[in-house]
Amino acid sequence: MINNFPIAYDSCYKLNLPPGHRFPMEKYEKLPKKLIEKGIADSSNFFKPNFPNIKDILLTHKKNYVDKLNNLMLSKNEIRKVGFPLSDDLIRREFIISGGTIEGAVKSLNHGISMNIAGGTHHAFSDRGEGFCLLNDQAIAANYLIKNHKIEKILVIDLDVHQGNGTAAIFKNLNNVFTFSMHGEKNYPFKKEKSDLDIELKDKTGDHEYLNILNSIIEKLINKLNPEFIFYLAGVDVIKTDKLGRLSLSIEGCKKRDQIVFSICKKKNIPIQCSMGGGYSEDIDLIVEAHTNTFLMAKNIIAN
Ligand SMILES: [Zn+2]
Repeated sequence: MINNFPIAYDSCYKLNLPPGHRFPMEKYEKLPKKLIEKGIADSSNFFKPNFPNIKDILLTHKKNYVDKLNNLMLSKNEIRKVGFPLSDDLIRREFIISGGTIEGAVKSLNHGISMNIAGGTHHAFSDRGEGFCLLNDQAIAANYLIKNHKIEKILVIDLDVHQGNGTAAIFKNLNNVFTFSMHGEKNYPFKKEKSDLDIELKDKTGDHEYLNILNSIIEKLINKLNPEFIFYLAGVDVIKTDKLGRLSLSIEGCKKRDQIVFSICKKKNIPIQCSMGGGYSEDIDLIVEAHTNTFLMAKNIIAN
């Protein structure tokens, strides 16, 4: 059977964290189960990413940083900024997730769409990590497509509530990749980088205003750039119950956001890879529901 809705997933995505850690790691176990339970995916849709080739990672990240990760040599301060305890399992997980985005992006070239159950680690810079991000999966995959698949124009649509600061910095001087980030102006990171297009939203921005802004920008942007490939970072920390986000989207509004992005890709016939990004609502089932909606929209609009 042809897998026309490929989803990257490995059980290592759910890292064991110390009790009480604020990152909702269980979502990576619950989400694939929910997709199967709801009939959005079956086991044939999932693929287990390979450990990526280090030379592909080095298209994006500095060698001394990658060496530090592999040797677990980050300083205390660097570990504090990342927010996860440093371990072999963590580092392996980060590489596998990046592998899932690379392999997914290549699959998208054939099938139009691919998803990653995790990823969207947009706070990772070429030489450092922060904010739960160590390797920048979509930046890695973008550089991979440019090098190996002769893709010349890529658009990153980053709708996580936090600015894609790492992605913006990585592609600051590269014309092949246009970075678009729409985020809360008062949210982390407090020192923002300059994306090619940044839209900063006021605290408590709700569905109506959010969707109007997105609608007014997205098609014009795509018409102007004519990208050959789109990376979509679909963080669900835009919803009003989020502990870290400062916006006020409903679950339904978040679903409409995804619908807008996938519909324009379908209309323009542009392949898309989608990584999940953040989501920090108190109720983990709400996080999983919002991520599930992203898969539902992707499947209904593009994979069918
Ligand atoms: Zn976020």
